[in-house]
Amino acid sequence: MSYSVYERKEDCCGCTACMNICPKGAITMQADEEGFLYPEIDGKRCIECGLCKKICAFQKEELSLEEMPQVYAVKASDEIRRQSSSGGCFTAFSDVILQKGGAVYGCAFDEKLKAEHIRAENERERDRCRGSKYSQSDLGTIFSSVKEDLKAGREVLFTGTTCQTAALREVLSEQEQKNLYTVDIICHGTPSPRLFADFIEYIEQKRNKKVKAYYHRPKDLGWRGGEKLIYADGKKESRTTLVDGWRNIFYGDLALRPSCYQCRYSNPCRPSDITIADFWGIEGYAPEFSDALGVSLALVSSEKGRRLFEACRSSLQIIERTMEEAVVKNPNLKVPTARPAARTQFWALYKEGGFPAIMRLYGKDTLKQKIKYAIKAIMRKCGLFALAKKILKK
Ligand SMILES: Cc1cc2nc3c(=O)[nH]c(=O)nc-3n(C[C@H](O)[C@H](O)[C@H](O)COP(=O)(O)OP(=O)(O)OC[C@H]3O[C@@H](n4cnc5c(N)ncnc54)[C@H](O)[C@@H]3O)c2cc1C
Ligand code: SF4
Ligand code: SF4
Ligand code: SF4
Repeated sequence: MSYSVYERKEDCCGCTACMNICPKGAITMQADEEGFLYPEIDGKRCIECGLCKKICAFQKEELSLEEMPQVYAVKASDEIRRQSSSGGCFTAFSDVILQKGGAVYGCAFDEKLKAEHIRAENERERDRCRGSKYSQSDLGTIFSSVKEDLKAGREVLFTGTTCQTAALREVLSEQEQKNLYTVDIICHGTPSPRLFADFIEYIEQKRNKKVKAYYHRPKDLGWRGGEKLIYADGKKESRTTLVDGWRNIFYGDLALRPSCYQCRYSNPCRPSDITIADFWGIEGYAPEFSDALGVSLALVSSEKGRRLFEACRSSLQIIERTMEEAVVKNPNLKVPTARPAARTQFWALYKEGGFPAIMRLYGKDTLKQKIKYAIKAIMRKCGLFALAKKILKK
């Protein structure tokens, strides 16, 4: 007999802490019908010690805010920012750890474009973690690997969603955390990995070729740009209804993990040393600092975070800002993403008609949208957008 740790899906963020702590190895992570991983307890092995619930950071009391994090707007070099989603903070922090012979952990795509956490010991491996992947990453047994590195006396930088970094700290003792730095993101929520796999398969069938690489926010399309992919034959595709379908699904909030709508980390009180995000709205507060390559928001919450941040000063441009500014365009610093009323209907449609049905209704892969995109593409080619901007400025 097997059963879940919690009955309600909303109560579990899939952080794997319980699986890591179980003394009997009774817990495995199993995908549900939406493709999210949940812990399943093997009743034959479980000795009812209660450790799995005790360790669950997602069910612990709210964190209290002893001191407000320090708030900064940050930019790495142009070259780094071209490869990063916002201001390139992650690369700067991870460079410090790699230069000291440490290990960096972050989310990368595997060869099938599944988001998963990996361990990086050099820049080449670390670079795979650059850029946001908009689907929930599979942590696998990564917490054990972090533990081994720390036991071996290595410095470790662990990056991920807030629930992932909070969970890691639960499975490590105070002593083990001595050389651990954690960096989380302000998190809007993570969509279903199964749905993203379906999306890639849908594109491959439509175009009749393999997708080799995928970028949710490539900088050649701008800081707020759209999705881009590269096919096995080297051809690229972006700014089409097909590729931007995922953007509509992600920002429509329909495919996020149920726990994301009740995220306990949607506040300025962070469980990590440093929190990174996009500094949306910076053009209004510090126009001279803002540019098209993107600006990061960094919240520094601990002494360790301050040390790591200071170690990067020479490679970053930094200005101090306020929490009030940070919150305005980052609502997930205040409240979790609201669960759309249409979520139930969305998943019912998926079960009935599969991903093509989802794409037709929510991915905007319709004739009307295709015509709209084609007109926009022509305008872009003829420079009509730039001309319109110039006229409006005048
Ligand atoms: C699912 C998701 C939701 C986000 N929501 C917001 C938001 O609401 N507001 C906001 O301002 N910023 C959000 N971000 C963060 C933002 O997109 C950038 O990741 C952040 O600004 C850091 O950019 P960078 O230029 O410093 O680093 P980059 O080089 O872009 O580094 C990316 C970092 O994100 C981590 N990462 C990437 N994908 C995932 C994933 N699927 N799961 C866990 N970790 C991942 C990597 O490990 C790495 O540390 C979100 C990111 C993700 C992945
Ligand atoms: S939130 Fe994490 S620790 Fe809690 S039940 Fe889910 S996987 Fe286990
Ligand atoms: S109660 Fe104890 S033995 Fe049973 S699954 Fe939880 S941690 Fe494992
Ligand atoms: S929104 Fe919260 S629960 Fe969902 S992935 Fe992000 S940190 Fe975890």
